[in-house]
Amino acid sequence: MAAVNTRRQVVLHVRTLDYPSVQHALFGRLSDEYGATSYELRALTSATLSCAGCGWAFPGSYHNSLLGMYRSRPVVGISPAAVEFGDTGICPRCQGTEIILQYQCPRPTEVTKPSSGPTSTRQERASKLIVDHVERVVKDRPDLMTSVAFRELTSTDTLDFIVNADAWPSPDGHITFRAKRLNQVIVLVSLVGTIDPSRIRNLMPAGYLPELDRLLHESGLRPGELDAAHVVLGLDADGRTAVHLAYLPAQRDITFLTPWDLLSDQERNRGSKTS
Ligand SMILES: [Zn+2]
Repeated sequence: MAAVNTRRQVVLHVRTLDYPSVQHALFGRLSDEYGATSYELRALTSATLSCAGCGWAFPGSYHNSLLGMYRSRPVVGISPAAVEFGDTGICPRCQGTEIILQYQCPRPTEVTKPSSGPTSTRQERASKLIVDHVERVVKDRPDLMTSVAFRELTSTDTLDFIVNADAWPSPDGHITFRAKRLNQVIVLVSLVGTIDPSRIRNLMPAGYLPELDRLLHESGLRPGELDAAHVVLGLDADGRTAVHLAYLPAQRDITFLTPWDLLSDQERNRGSKTS
């Protein structure tokens, strides 16, 4: 368990299933220190819980479920996913098992300046990693994309779109995507809660290329219409980040770029390494 306590803000990084006991201990401590009806104690009940893997802020029902509120008496209108989360502690979006608890108890009169949480720092780092990756690719393969496509792919707007995309694997473990159409490129992004290539490959049992084909088809892209970039962004519970890129020029006589680490053994044996 890691904890930061500055200016009456508490940030805890804990195993999800440990949360009820951690919350209980905090309650006891705050109650002793400030009193059972104190502002400080009441602030704890409005703490934010988010997934340490994907940053998703869990809805209140997930929070309650984790505290065991639905265990003996099912509540109408509570999603099965929220109930299950209380039992397993597994994030349905990224399969992560750790949470960040953020709890702030400023005095009612105290003005606090908004702080950028761990998530935004992480998004900045991810953006930089994406730009570095694309720059490396273009240095290696100058024929791959035009300078316009490069600028579109690495613009602040595109990077914001990528790092904030709600494109985590579905609860049944399939990769999903979000797409953004620009003038020369369509950008597809898929987020995964791991940086381990073998675990990412497990999300694509038929191999990467059929998966990419499916995403392109679902994006509605017509052949030759636009270049297509598929960014697979891995964000794990330890704050590590990994970027994988596939790039298919609209002009099909240019060899496309595949993310080598994500190809199955069979797919690797068929082609030569291009990234
Ligand atoms: Zn998650």
